Amino acid sequence: MRLSPSDVRSTSARALRHVALTEMIGFGVIVAVIWLDELFDLPHRLFGAPVSPTRLTEAAMESLGVVLLAAIVLLSTRRLIARVVYLESYITLCAWCRRVHRDEQWLSIEAYFARHQARTSHGICPDCEAKALGDVHDAGRGVERARS
Ligand SMILES: [Zn+2]
Repeated sequence: MRLSPSDVRSTSARALRHVALTEMIGFGVIVAVIWLDELFDLPHRLFGAPVSPTRLTEAAMESLGVVLLAAIVLLSTRRLIARVVYLESYITLCAWCRRVHRDEQWLSIEAYFARHQARTSHGICPDCEAKALGDVHDAGRGVERARS
């Protein structure tokens, strides 16, 4: 499946919404458990622990701590997803032959840009790597012949 840079951005945006929603649900469950524990003394009701007094201030402080932690986690997640979206917007080019690496294939740059517009970075394809290594070996043999 080919994804254009705009497809990548929308896919990552969906992933961000899904991750953020999951995190918010998780933190919401934690806050709910804090209040259920404080209002209904869950350890006493579920496990027969000694009765503990209701302290609403304690539950409010714990909830505030969880909400602050949730805000930090959500901001960090948002920043990480933005970074992933940014990095996924780049494509890899062979620095030797200029073919484009996309979806496990090396396409000609013309074929790629006929379909997409994107920012670029550099790499080396297997053909150019083998050719470059062959050139290095050939150069080494030439030096050996010159010495003997
Ligand atoms: Zn190449």
